[in-house]
Amino acid sequence: MPNIDRYDVIVIGAGAAGLLAASCSAERGRKTLLIEKNRKAGVKILISGGTRCNVTHDCDAAGIIAAFGSAGTFLHSALAAFGPHDLLDMLHAEGIPTKIEPGGKVFPQSDRAADVLDALRRCLHRSGAQLSLAEPVKSISRNPPLPLGEGRGEGELPGEIDAVNERRAATAFKVETSRRALHCDKLIVTTGGKSYPGCGTTGDGYRWMADIGHTIHRPRPALVPLTSDEPWIRDLAGVTIADVGVRVINVASAASLPLPQNRPHRPSTLARGVLIERRGSLLFTHFGLSGPAALDVSRAVTAAASPRDILLNIDFLPGIGKAQVERQLCATAATDGKRLIATIIAERLPRRLADALLRLAGIPLERRAAELSATERAKLAEQLKSCALRITGTRGFDKAEVTAGGVALDEVDSRTMQSKRVPGLYLAGEILDLDGFIGGYNFQAAFSTGYLAGQSV
Ligand SMILES: Cc1cc2nc3c(=O)[nH]c(=O)nc-3n(C[C@H](O)[C@H](O)[C@H](O)COP(=O)(O)OP(=O)(O)OC[C@H]3O[C@@H](n4cnc5c(N)ncnc54)[C@H](O)[C@@H]3O)c2cc1C
Repeated sequence: MPNIDRYDVIVIGAGAAGLLAASCSAERGRKTLLIEKNRKAGVKILISGGTRCNVTHDCDAAGIIAAFGSAGTFLHSALAAFGPHDLLDMLHAEGIPTKIEPGGKVFPQSDRAADVLDALRRCLHRSGAQLSLAEPVKSISRNPPLPLGEGRGEGELPGEIDAVNERRAATAFKVETSRRALHCDKLIVTTGGKSYPGCGTTGDGYRWMADIGHTIHRPRPALVPLTSDEPWIRDLAGVTIADVGVRVINVASAASLPLPQNRPHRPSTLARGVLIERRGSLLFTHFGLSGPAALDVSRAVTAAASPRDILLNIDFLPGIGKAQVERQLCATAATDGKRLIATIIAERLPRRLADALLRLAGIPLERRAAELSATERAKLAEQLKSCALRITGTRGFDKAEVTAGGVALDEVDSRTMQSKRVPGLYLAGEILDLDGFIGGYNFQAAFSTGYLAGQSV
């Protein structure tokens, strides 16, 4: 009987991590099957970066590690095995030139995510790995070791039993799909997280890993737009600011700090409880805030027990200090005293935002620069430099680019990606408790950990 359902290595999930893992494994001579529930591989690659695919970041391994916070050190070996330059070398060798955009994001020169996916598919094909599409995996389990000939039932022929046992005795895992039962010696799980579930990422791997004995840190949305019920935010829908500083403040830990009232003004809370701080562009929307700065801090928002425990603080003029802002307002009063203060602010920020900040500071829009009192100046500087706003939550997994949380990193050997709980089981990509900032870091982590898993099986 042919061993059609037995593989050296099965990889579940043909995303960034799975494609690399399967190619690597097969290149090393392992009989490898990559199984994907979708009708095509790499669906997230295709939609990533606005269909342009920000493949990695223009930095060395240390730069990638830094983008993952304290969890980043887990990536040392994976990045040593396959770092940003290795990824680019691979793409270039496949005829996919890349470009670096301001800020360090790396994209294919063509701006076509499909080119990146085609390159990965070509590598997979050359490696000899088999790819099975539209085949959801239903469950995974460990095969109990079964010596040849053992377990024969009454009336069963020894030859039949031996043929079954021959196929499964030496294998460690059974993988049941919508169509069949498969057996393998080594299993690589690259099923991703729970974000954008329409892409096939419905958190299946978390369930299997929990059942098999792994700790799953609460999966939660990350790189996700923030929601707010502050009316002035909704009024600014469509306004973008190229460079702001955004902080998430833990007001629960700073007991003396009140949650913001619907203003016009409140004291700064920056001194204590800053959970995360990022700088980048910000977009006001009809539901709240989006853009890289908001997405980057969202992991701290979803980590909070309740949105009421946190406060967002926005610095609209991150290049200069608050005292300097006040001094500049003073100087403008002397030189341009007759001009509307709103017009002066609008030289630096969108007019609608300038008006909103004046209202929040309790300053009439018709106030002229020379008429601004010292108190008003201080209130305006406060709004410009540390505008506090209440967040009601996020847009959830449906709109989250990545999932924070996942398989506990201390249960996975970072030198091989092998589970410390289950020998022969390997994990790579977003299923791990790793989430990085916007900028190509998440793909790099998926490619690197996938590669290392494929090298280790
Ligand atoms: C809209 C969007 C844009 C993004 N843009 C970028 C970007 O530009 N740059 C960047 O670095 N990151 C980006 N990301 C994040 C990036 O896509 C992920 O970090 C990365 O895809 C994770 O790779 P992965 O291989 O671990 O998981 P995934 O790419 O999510 O792949 C997991 C695969 O497993 C399959 N699967 C799940 N369960 C099963 C099952 N039971 N049986 C069989 N198959 C299964 C899924 O269908 C999926 O194909 C973006 C994400 C989104 C949603």
